[in-house]
Amino acid sequence: MADTTHHRAGTARTTIHAGGEWLHAASGATREIVDPADALPFAVVAEGDEKDADLAVDAARRAFDEGAWPRTPVAERAALLRRVADLLVRDRDELGLLESRDAGKTVEEGRVDVDCVADAFRYFADLVAAEAPGRVVDAGSPDVHSVVVHEPVGVCAMITPWNYPLLQASWKIAPALAAGNTFVIKPSEITPLTTVALVELLVEAGLPPGVANIVTGPGHTVGARLAEHPGVDLVSFTGGLSSGVKVAQAAAATVKKVALELGGKNPNVVFADACATDEGFDTAVDQALNAAFIHSGQVCSAGARLIVEEPLRERFVEELARRARRIRLGRGTEDGVECGPLVSAQQRAKVEAYVDSALREGAVLRCGGRRPEPSPQRPESGYFYEPTVLDGCHRGMRVVREEVFGPVLTVETFRTEDEAVALANDTEYGLAGAVWTADAGRARRVAGRLRHGTVWINDFHPYLPQAEWGGFGRSGTGRELGPAGLAEYRETKHVYQNLAPRPVRWFAG
Ligand code: NAD
Repeated sequence: MADTTHHRAGTARTTIHAGGEWLHAASGATREIVDPADALPFAVVAEGDEKDADLAVDAARRAFDEGAWPRTPVAERAALLRRVADLLVRDRDELGLLESRDAGKTVEEGRVDVDCVADAFRYFADLVAAEAPGRVVDAGSPDVHSVVVHEPVGVCAMITPWNYPLLQASWKIAPALAAGNTFVIKPSEITPLTTVALVELLVEAGLPPGVANIVTGPGHTVGARLAEHPGVDLVSFTGGLSSGVKVAQAAAATVKKVALELGGKNPNVVFADACATDEGFDTAVDQALNAAFIHSGQVCSAGARLIVEEPLRERFVEELARRARRIRLGRGTEDGVECGPLVSAQQRAKVEAYVDSALREGAVLRCGGRRPEPSPQRPESGYFYEPTVLDGCHRGMRVVREEVFGPVLTVETFRTEDEAVALANDTEYGLAGAVWTADAGRARRVAGRLRHGTVWINDFHPYLPQAEWGGFGRSGTGRELGPAGLAEYRETKHVYQNLAPRPVRWFAG
């Protein structure tokens, strides 16, 4: 059955890994993985279902309850994570290319993702290695030794999206392993290849069988089963709001710990003073472009709402649209391409519907709003869509309220600082936002008032593995990365030891 050598070539159907074995789906079903640049299949994977999920959870359960990993000394766990980081660096080019073909991003973006994944493994290795083993608490008596320790949660289910398949997987896998858990991961059914490759690297690095398990397959079968499974102690989900709600509901019956990283509708607030110099103007426009259009806007923290000070609007939007028209769209593996296709025909149809509704509601199209002309770098069958700027938008429009997850930037304007803050916070989400200003006092004031999990001042998109990532409001619960990203994967236990036990005589008889 096992066939571990061909996963990356996309020729193996044994992409389910449970208890140390590479397996076909129990049903024998398979799925073709399509390159979004030409809509042609280039790989085949196992299409798992509930049965495969059960098998993988059983394996993870055994490895947690009876295996060595949860009891492995921290230094050894950290050393294994560092080995994984080294293997990622070794395979950087290959994995970057695979991510590019699977998710439609440029190869360069795919490779940068691999660097970030290696950083996450190193960060969590360093974090656990440097920790004190417990916190001694003063119990108020020399006869008592009281200590608070951390233990792994148990079996973790992880469900990940298609936009950053490898990166999102690593933000869960690295801390879960650092803390001593076992896991079952279910990558997005349309972009599973690099997560399968990552599990191969974990095996190569020496992780014991049953600790790392993967089931490739759909959300409504494999994902839903993992979320409800009584053998799972924690479910960590990254994806859309409606799927996240379903996962939380399914997990509630067994009181699992639930971490949700959901969508965003992220404001990019630009004050005119940020653009007082030519350099400032160029930087703010350049970063607004990057905020909205990198990976064709299929980024949870995409700066999809430009909120610009009214007197600056025309000049800013004009330049933004001019530069957006010049973005070179094409297959992510071609030289010189700056932006790839959308991930699927369904995703492009969703984007088109949002743009249509915005235009019907009165938005003004400044650029894009259509599929590009086909070219040698851009086959007609690929899911390309032009970077689109919609001016004259307001909160009443669906395109402003809902996450589009495509290359669509809406423009709103403000006249006062209060109005800018009110607009930026006027969203049910709260993942990330930015403020551009030359006034340091204003920058701090506005950053302090924004109800978003990450706020950038005069920048957009950078994140650090040392700093927590996650959302206010309906962008989610819990945090990834940073110390809180490790704490998600731990139980806290208080051990109280009486060194001189005596009867308490509460009951006289
Ligand atoms: P999605 O919700 O459709 O799917 C995400 C994952 O959930 C997939 O693996 C899918 O198979 C699975 N799934 C779907 N229905 C399920 C169910 N009922 N039970 C269990 N699992 C189920 O999201 P997507 O389209 O793959 O990804 C895009 C979304 O992810 C966007 O909303 C984006 O903002 C969000 N996202 C958030 C972050 C973050 O850090 N907050 C990062 C990346 C993406």
